[in-house]
Amino acid sequence: MTTPPPHASSLPGFGMTGFASTDAAAAGGLTPEEIADLRSAVKLLARKRLAVLTGAGLSTDSGIPDYRGPNSVPRSPMTFQQFVGDEALRSRYWARNHIGWHHLRRADPNDGHRALALMEQRGLLTGLITQNVDRLHSAAGSTTVVDLHGTYDRVVCLQCRSSFSRRDIARLLERLNPGYLERTGDAGDVAPDADADVDDTSDFTVAPCPVCGGMLKPDFVYFGENVPKDRVERAYAMVDDAGALLVAGSSLTVMSGLRFVRHAAKHGKPVVIVNRGATRGDEFASLKLELGVSESLAHLAHALPPTENHDGGSSPS
Ligand SMILES: [Zn+2]
Repeated sequence: MTTPPPHASSLPGFGMTGFASTDAAAAGGLTPEEIADLRSAVKLLARKRLAVLTGAGLSTDSGIPDYRGPNSVPRSPMTFQQFVGDEALRSRYWARNHIGWHHLRRADPNDGHRALALMEQRGLLTGLITQNVDRLHSAAGSTTVVDLHGTYDRVVCLQCRSSFSRRDIARLLERLNPGYLERTGDAGDVAPDADADVDDTSDFTVAPCPVCGGMLKPDFVYFGENVPKDRVERAYAMVDDAGALLVAGSSLTVMSGLRFVRHAAKHGKPVVIVNRGATRGDEFASLKLELGVSESLAHLAHALPPTENHDGGSSPS
């Protein structure tokens, strides 16, 4: 028996409350039962190149709470239609995003992200599809990544389609709203899409596009928006090139991720899901592991044997 970790709320965190998924990592190690489960996964996945699909559960160990996890507070993100159609809501959105962005950019990759980067280096992956906008896969060193829902560090103009770094827009927002960050301080929970739980947003001034004066939007996919077609095609290609699909830390609630699970299963490819709690893809899974994501991936990254064309060390070009 390992000593139970201190309650999550007393762990050093991310300037927020209520995230609990660091418990397993803090406890360290895996039980014999968990290792047996992972052995079954290795058996199913061995000597196949894998497509990997990740969701918010992968980043909870980096201090970004999963708004659909077992311990999460129900939350309804703003839809695209609300964002473009309502000035007050848009102002509220940008205010919360501004605080949230400052939180997200301080987050570091965890063992799960590092394990997937290692799997890529070992030539085990056809690619990585993530529903997260936090860029932590790239920060950990993964290079073949489809950011399915976009990334939190880019901003797009809906009128002239110019793209900006979020950092540049942050400078603009700070000029327009002097002292706002200091007044709001360390906000409450920050959702995976950089939405901070802040109420004092009424006087927040939204920045116009520096090029055309049009409406700016964080460059990720909102509810009510479609994932761009080329991105979806790249993700399907990763699944088509793979011998199996590994899903980690996603409840597969939205169709944008679930469709890859259905696609793999339809083509007879094994699907292994690592997620605590039920997922919408469970019925398609060859194996479902109710295990911590970071520890499981760290185990798999070392336990999976080399694929036939890659005996370790080099990645495909
Ligand atoms: Zn513009």
